[in-house]
Amino acid sequence: LANRKFHPESTIVDVDGVKIGGGHFAVIAGPCSVESESQIISVARSVKASGAKMLRGGAYKPRTSPYSFQGLEVEGLDLLIKAKAETGLPIVSELMSPKLCEIFEEKVDVIQIGARNMQNFDLLKEVGKMSRPVVLKRGLSNSYEEWVMSAEYIMAGGNNNVILCERGIRTFENYTRNTLDISAIPAIKKMSHLPIIVDPSHAGGMSWMVESLALAAIAAGADGLMIEVHNDPQHALSDGQQSLNPKQFDDFMKKSFPLVQAFHPG
Ligand code: PEP
Ligand code: MN
Repeated sequence: LANRKFHPESTIVDVDGVKIGGGHFAVIAGPCSVESESQIISVARSVKASGAKMLRGGAYKPRTSPYSFQGLEVEGLDLLIKAKAETGLPIVSELMSPKLCEIFEEKVDVIQIGARNMQNFDLLKEVGKMSRPVVLKRGLSNSYEEWVMSAEYIMAGGNNNVILCERGIRTFENYTRNTLDISAIPAIKKMSHLPIIVDPSHAGGMSWMVESLALAAIAAGADGLMIEVHNDPQHALSDGQQSLNPKQFDDFMKKSFPLVQAFHPG
């Protein structure tokens, strides 16, 4: 189902009129974690003003340490809904457990499957039964083939609206948090008709590197970007070091505009 051979035309995923794929480009922006009503509404307003088309925000967080902030859970989803009511931006949030599918189906516009769950096949099967589009992040150490097969799991259940997200992989290099695999963009486009977006925040792990990685992704043909933006990165409860502040995000959006236009005219 995901194979380009049997479906030559590029898939366009449409979220409330925001289109990704098949020549349509969109930026998803927002904090790593939803932290409070004032935080998410302030970030939502500023990223919208800068041109983001969807709002991201984690409510259930897959943290390496059990003692790190785990997210506001269902309260976080409700705060995202408030931010959507304020701005009109569709909301994207990570689903970690099959137990929460019903809540996410009701509250969230786009389901994010995180890198750590890319091969959680029980979760993928449940998400396949949902009607919400899915952003499927590439696993920390997974091949293109494995990644596309995970999309296949979701599509086999009847949910064809899958957006692949390259977020960097584990390599021997430890200067960056992960290594952005730019080759994933042309390779996935050859293998599959599904849209592919890039998350330069988790790839590089440093805010000053986001712009370069994102511009490279656009030039390589990505259908969109997912960028972490926080109103006060220094005090963020997760991933502050890699988050842009609203001014940096606005500068990036202005700088990237001509490149986006060149690659996605109209
Ligand atoms: C995130 O988007 O905040 C996240 C946890 O990403 P990943 O699954 O790519 O690590
Ligand atoms: Mn994060």
